[in-house]
Amino acid sequence: MTGIELTGIRKRFGETEVVKDLDLSIAEREFLVILGPSGCGKSTLLRMIAGLEDVTQGRIAIGAQDVTWTQPGQRGCAMVFQNYALYPHMSVAGNMAYGLKVAGVPRRERSERVARIAATLELGALLDRKPHELSGGQRQRVAMGRAMIRSPRVFLFDEPLSNLDAKLRAQLRLEIKRLHRDLGTTSIFVTHDQLEAMTMADRMVVMNAGRIEQVGTPQEIYRQPATRFVAGFIGAPA
Ligand code: ADP
Ligand code: MG
Repeated sequence: MTGIELTGIRKRFGETEVVKDLDLSIAEREFLVILGPSGCGKSTLLRMIAGLEDVTQGRIAIGAQDVTWTQPGQRGCAMVFQNYALYPHMSVAGNMAYGLKVAGVPRRERSERVARIAATLELGALLDRKPHELSGGQRQRVAMGRAMIRSPRVFLFDEPLSNLDAKLRAQLRLEIKRLHRDLGTTSIFVTHDQLEAMTMADRMVVMNAGRIEQVGTPQEIYRQPATRFVAGFIGAPA
C-alpha cells in the first residue's frame, strides 16, 4: 500500500499561510500532477510530503503509516528537483550511489544497483563523468537515477524539466511515465506548465494561492473547469 493521504494540511511562514487546509488522496500507483502558478505553494506541499519541511497543522499518511513526524529518510519518498542538485565533485556513479553509501549498503551491491539503473536511464557510458561534463538532459537523468536507486515507494518531482529545451522535455516526459509504470511507484509531479500537466497526468490538481481549485482527469478539467481561475489557467472556454 503506497497511497498518500493528506488531511487538513496547513503551512505558515511567519504570518503568511502558504498552504491552506488542504485535503488530498492519491491512489497507489497513480501519477498525480499538481499544476499551479509560481508561488501558489506547490514546492512547499511537496517538501512537506518528503519531510523536508514540517507541517504547521494536519496529517500525512503514506500507505497505512502516519508519517507526519517521520524523518525524511524513513518515509520512502525520493524527490527530483528542477536544478538537479548533483554533487559537482562526484562522478555520475558516485552521485547515484551516494544515498546507498550513507545507508550502509556494501560496495559490491552499490555498483550492481548503479549499473542496473544506469542501463535503464541510458547512462551506462557516462558513469565516470563529472556533472559539468554532462548535458542538461543527462544531468536530470542522473538526478532521477539517484532518486530511483533506493527503490522509493513514492516519487516526488518538483518541476524537473523546466530547465530543459522543448525536445528533451518531451522525451523525458515519456521516460518519467515509463519509469513510474515499470517501478510501480506512486508519483506526484509538480509543474506550472499546462501542456505538461495535461499530457502526463492520470489525475491532476489545480492549485491557486495555497488551495486546491479542482481535482480531476485532464479531460474533466479541460471540459468542465470548476472555477473561473481554472478556466483562465487551463485556457479552456468557461
Ligand atoms: P511554488 O512552488 O508553487 O512556486 P512555493 O511553495 O515555493 O511555491 O512558495 C509558496 C509561497 O511560500 C511563496 O510566496 C514563497 O515566497 C513562500 N515561501 C516558500 N518557502 C518559504 C520560506 N522558507 N520562508 C518564507 N516563505 C517561503
Ligand atoms: Mg516551486
